[in-house]
Amino acid sequence: MESNIKLGRISGIEIGLHYSWFIIAALIVFSLGEHFRQVNPNWGTSQIWITALFTAVLFFVSLLLHELSHALVAQARGLKVKAITLFALGGVSQIQDDATDAKTEFWVAIAGPIASLIIGFGCLAIAVGLGWQRPAEPRTGVTAIVVWLGYINVALAVFNMIPGFPLDGGRVLRAIVWAITKNADRSSRIAARIGQFVAFLFIFDGIWEFFGGAGFNGLWLAFIGWFLMDAAKASYGQAEITAAFQGVRVSSVMTRDCVTVNRAMNLQDFVDTYLLTTGQRCYAVEDHGRLAGLITPRDVGAIPRELWDRTTVREVMRPLEQLHIITPDTQVLDALKLMAGNDVNQLPVVANGTLRGVVSRSQLMRLLQARSELHFPVTHHPPITEHV
Ligand SMILES: [Zn+2]
Repeated sequence: MESNIKLGRISGIEIGLHYSWFIIAALIVFSLGEHFRQVNPNWGTSQIWITALFTAVLFFVSLLLHELSHALVAQARGLKVKAITLFALGGVSQIQDDATDAKTEFWVAIAGPIASLIIGFGCLAIAVGLGWQRPAEPRTGVTAIVVWLGYINVALAVFNMIPGFPLDGGRVLRAIVWAITKNADRSSRIAARIGQFVAFLFIFDGIWEFFGGAGFNGLWLAFIGWFLMDAAKASYGQAEITAAFQGVRVSSVMTRDCVTVNRAMNLQDFVDTYLLTTGQRCYAVEDHGRLAGLITPRDVGAIPRELWDRTTVREVMRPLEQLHIITPDTQVLDALKLMAGNDVNQLPVVANGTLRGVVSRSQLMRLLQARSELHFPVTHHPPITEHV
C-alpha cells in the first residue's frame, strides 16, 4: 500500500494518504451529518456539517495515533518503520523487519489497541465531564464529537483484537503461541489456523442471525468472517512458504538450464527456433560471453508481428540494468520479497557477469506442491549440494 499524498514525517516515519481514503472520509462525513440531523433536529445546517467534518478529522487523527503507537513501539524495539498510510479500511504501518522475538511482536501488536482504548475512554470521560449521561443523546456539538469518538475508538480496539490475521489480535495471539512454543514458524501456522476457526464462527453466526431475522447485520458479520477467512488462509500459506524456504539459498532451487540466444537474431527466427519449440519462459541474451539481458514471450508479444523479421532480440530484450538481479547466495525468501515488491515473476541469478540460472515464482510454488504431495513436513530440507 503506497501513499499517494504525503502529509509529512513523524519520528522519521512518512505519513501519507491513499486515494481510497477520500471515499471513506466523504462517506463518514455524510453519514455523521445524517446522524446529527436526526438526533438533533434543532441544529442548523452549518452546525451539522461543521460538527460532522470536525468529528471525521478527529477520527482520522485517532486512527493515525493507533498506527503511530504500533510504529513507535516498533522503532523503540529496534525495528525499521518506513511509512504509515491511511486508506479506505483504516491505517497500515509499513514495518520493514519482522519481529525477532515474541515479546517485540506482542508489544508492537498490542500498542495500537491500547492507544485506541485510551483515546476512547478518554473521550467518554470528557463527555461525562461536560455533563453527558450514558443513554442520552449528546446535545451540544462538542459533546456529540467526543461521545462519537469515544464509542468508535473503543469499538476499534475491540474489533482489532479479534484473533485473526491481519488484525492486531492475530499478531498478539501469534506472539503468545510463539512465547509458549518457542518456535516462530509453528506459531504463525497455529495462529493462522485459530484465525480460520474464528472466521468460520463469524460466518456461521452471521448466517444464523441473517435467517433469524437480523437481516443486514447478519450479512455484515458473515462478510467480516469471509474477509478474515481469506486473510487467515493467505497468512497460513505465507507461514508455510517461510518455513519451507527459511535459510535456503537461491543456488539450491534455481533453474539452471537457461537457453542463451544470440542478440543479433531477429524475432521471427527467435520465435520459430526457441519460443514455439522449447516452451520455456525466459531466455538469456549474451554479449561476448556476458549476460546482456533477458527476453520473455511477453516482450515479444508486445511487438506487432509484421515487424518481427526486422526487429532483433537486442532491441526487445530487457537490458541487465533494468533487471533486478540476484546472486546464487541470495536467500530464497529475499528473492520472493524482491519479486513481490517489483511485481515480476522471475529473477536472473548472476555471478561474475554470467547467468547462472533463473528463479521464478511458479517454479518455487511447484516445489512446495511436490513437497506436500510427498507428505514431507514443510520444514524438511534435503541435503543440499552446492555447485555454483
Ligand atoms: Zn492496529
